[in-house]
Amino acid sequence: MHLTHKTAVITGSSSGIGLAVAREYAKNGANIVLNGLGDAKEIESIRHQIEADFKVKCLYHSANMLKPEEIRDMIAYAVGQFGGVDLLVNNAGIQFVSPIEEFPDDKFDAIIAINLVSSFHTIKAALPSMKKSQWGRIINIASAHALVASPYKSAYVAAKHGIAGLTKTVALEVATHGITVNAIAPGYVWTPLVEKQIPDQMKSRSMTEEEVKEKVLLAAQPTKKFVTMQDVASMAGYLASDAASSITGTVMSIDGGWTAQ
Ligand code: NAD
Repeated sequence: MHLTHKTAVITGSSSGIGLAVAREYAKNGANIVLNGLGDAKEIESIRHQIEADFKVKCLYHSANMLKPEEIRDMIAYAVGQFGGVDLLVNNAGIQFVSPIEEFPDDKFDAIIAINLVSSFHTIKAALPSMKKSQWGRIINIASAHALVASPYKSAYVAAKHGIAGLTKTVALEVATHGITVNAIAPGYVWTPLVEKQIPDQMKSRSMTEEEVKEKVLLAAQPTKKFVTMQDVASMAGYLASDAASSITGTVMSIDGGWTAQ
């Protein structure tokens, strides 16, 4: 188990891709700090399940990614409980879709804060611990929207392009310290969130479930298949491994060919 004795902090890991990454790292022996919003009982049961399934320690910190002091507290908590942070996955994210003239100011600010600025704060707080051990993996969950745009997603696309720039910059700053910094850029991933959109889309477009999937959600994805959460988690697992120690400063696409077009 290549991550035994390592500690991973994964933001937004109470569901979706973040949870899949947390389980992948736990499977490989890492202790985990979960984070994310949601029902306290559900999160407690997720935490418990990870400990039971993988015989690692799994803790939870409720830091809101809108609040820098809570983010710093989460990293300090991980260091206090486990002695350091070895793996940091910046995954928390939200979306809002609107033409720019009508885009609510507070939604724009929140997307930039959660999807981009929170990663500045986690990275800044976690780097001293990684530098101390001269080993670290920072993985930013970006999106195909880190490389290309879609209309009506100005805040999301700006934040995800920003995370690509942050990834490259930090990679250069820490390259001689055994720390790699990479972004993963998924296309459409089949998550509970995506699944929940389907009934509304079927209703508003008078389409069948298959039509919504193929003509709406997967319109830009040449494979016409969703990326799976496990596909993304496996890539995060690879980037955490020693085999990936020379990969840094990259934005790795996992998008069924979306950005090849
Ligand atoms: P999700 O909604 O299932 O997970 C988002 C997580 O972020 C949740 O745990 C949520 O609680 C957390 N979160 C939201 N706001 C927060 C806040 N203020 N403070 C702390 N945590 C907060 O969504 P997902 O699809 O798993 O998305 C995870 C990441 O993957 C996001 O960055 C998203 O942009 C990216 N992504 C998703 C897709 C996709 O198709 N699902 C594609 C490309 C990129």
